[in-house]
Amino acid sequence: MLMDNTTVLVVDDEERIRSSVRGILSDEGFRVLDTDGGPAVMDIIEREHPELVLLDVWMPKLDGIELLRRIKAEQPATHVIMISGHANIQNAVVATRLGAADFIEKPFSVDGLLTSIDRALAGQAADITAIRNGGSTNGRSGRLVPATSQFTIKNSLVMAGQGLHSGLKSGVILHPAPPGTGIVFSSLADQSAMAARLENVTETGYNTTLSNSGYTIRTVEHLMSALHGLGVSNLIVKTDDEVPALDGSALEFCHHLQKAGLQEQAAAVAPIRIAHPIQIGEGGEFIRIEPAGHLIIDYKLDYPAPIGVQQVHFELISPEAYIETIAPARTFGFVREFHKLSEMGLASGGRLDNLILVDDEKVVNTALRFSDEFARHKVLDLIGDLYLLGRPVHGHITASKTGHSDNLALLRAIAASL
Ligand SMILES: [Zn+2]
Repeated sequence: MLMDNTTVLVVDDEERIRSSVRGILSDEGFRVLDTDGGPAVMDIIEREHPELVLLDVWMPKLDGIELLRRIKAEQPATHVIMISGHANIQNAVVATRLGAADFIEKPFSVDGLLTSIDRALAGQAADITAIRNGGSTNGRSGRLVPATSQFTIKNSLVMAGQGLHSGLKSGVILHPAPPGTGIVFSSLADQSAMAARLENVTETGYNTTLSNSGYTIRTVEHLMSALHGLGVSNLIVKTDDEVPALDGSALEFCHHLQKAGLQEQAAAVAPIRIAHPIQIGEGGEFIRIEPAGHLIIDYKLDYPAPIGVQQVHFELISPEAYIETIAPARTFGFVREFHKLSEMGLASGGRLDNLILVDDEKVVNTALRFSDEFARHKVLDLIGDLYLLGRPVHGHITASKTGHSDNLALLRAIAASL
C-alpha cells in the first residue's frame, strides 16, 4: 500500500528510532518529518499539517501526554499514535481517553507499526464516511430479529477497572475493526494479536482464559457475552493480563459499547446454524443444543440454600432483550470457596463490589438485581463462551448445572460438527 501525500511526523528523542521509522514509512510512500521533541513541535504541526503524529510518551524535553493534550485541543483532526518503552495499560487508557488513536510499545515490529497506522488512518476514513452519511447509521434499536450485517463500534473506547482474579489494576481499550476481523485481543505492543476463538482457550476453571505464544488474557467471558449480546462482530481489544471485572456483570460493557455507538458494516454476518442435536453429559448435569432460528437458552441450576433451584428462559432476539434481562446479572461466589480462591492466588480483586457473595444462609454483601440472578449469570457466561466459535450461534440450548468447562466441551463438539 503506497500512502502518497500522507504526512507523518515522528516525535522521539532517540535518533535511532526516528531514522528507522523514517526508513520504514518512506518505503511505504509516506512523507515523513521528524523532530526530537523540542518546543517547536506545535509550530511544525501548524505549518505542515501532518495527518498523523507518532509521539513518544517519555522525552527529556517534553511530556508526551501533555503534548497529546495540546495537539488534540489545537489540531483535533490530527491522528496521534503514542509510543512508549514502558507501556502499561493505565498509560494507554489515559492516552486513549485524551484522543490517541493507538498506543504501541517499543520495541515494535514493522508489521505492528503499519497495522496501527492503517487503523488510525482508516478511522479517519470511517469518520468521513459517517459524516457524509449524515452522521449516525445506528440502525439497531427496535430491531426484533438477529442482525444480518456485521457491526463494529464507531469510536474507540476505554474502560478502567480491576481484574477479578489477579486483583491488579487493569483496563481495556476497544478499537473499531474492518469486516471479517472478528474479536481479536492484542497486547500493547500489537505483536501478539490473538483471536478470541476456541483454539486459543487454555483454562476454564473459574473463568475463560485465552493464551497464544506466551500472551495470556484472563476472564474474557463477560466482555465476550456483551459483544455476542449486542451483535458486535469486529473489534480489536487491547489489554494486559485480565479483563476488568467492573461490577461482575456485563452491563457496563454494554453501556460503554452503546455510548461508543455501533457501526453497521457492508458485510453479512454468517451465523452458526446447528444442523443436528448435540449433547454433553446426561442425567442431572448436561448441556444440549438443537436447531433453532435464533439463540434460545433454557438454563437450570440447583445449588444448596439459599440459592436453590432457578430456571431461566432467554431468547436473543435483540440487543435490548440481552441488556435488560441478562447483562445486569452478576457473577457469584461462596464464602467457603472464597478462601480457597484466594489461596490459589485467584479472586484477590474479588472485593465486595464485583460479585455476589453467598454463605450458607444468605447473600451477604448486596441486594439481588433479580431473584434468579444466579441462573441469569450462568446464561450470561454461556452466551460469552459460545461467541468463542467466532460467529453468533443459532440454536436452542437446554442446560442443567453446567459451567465453563461443559460450555467448552459443547463448543468443541459444535466445531467438530461444522
Ligand atoms: Zn461469569
